[in-house]
Amino acid sequence: MNIFEKIVAGELPCKKVLENSKFLAFHDIAPKAPIHVLAIPKQCIKDFNAVTPDLMAEMSDFILEVVEELGIKDSGYRLITNIGKDGGQEVPHLHFHILGGAPLHWPYLA
Ligand code: AMP
Repeated sequence: MNIFEKIVAGELPCKKVLENSKFLAFHDIAPKAPIHVLAIPKQCIKDFNAVTPDLMAEMSDFILEVVEELGIKDSGYRLITNIGKDGGQEVPHLHFHILGGAPLHWPYLA
């Protein structure tokens, strides 16, 4: 099991922001911005290449609920998903980085 599957299974703790039957959002352990939250499907999907349009539509709705919960929907935020080796993906479980809480420079990784 990868780290995010363990979090979904309750075997590893997380600082939860929002959860429903299909998705979970929690604070990144090494934040790259004042607010850095990860939104993931509970189902194990490796990356954006593998997600179906139906699940992606539900994922989008969930992300919008998360940014409302975080209070950053109107102030703005950055949404990133890394894919594979060249994309810098470390955890092989689809996740969207939600970064905000301050004006962000590009790229966000120094
Ligand atoms: P990526 O490079 O796109 O795969 O991003 C993986 C992210 O997961 C990184 O930003 C890590 O800081 C974060 N991360 C790794 N382990 C944990 C954990 N146990 N809880 C929360 N975030 C984590």
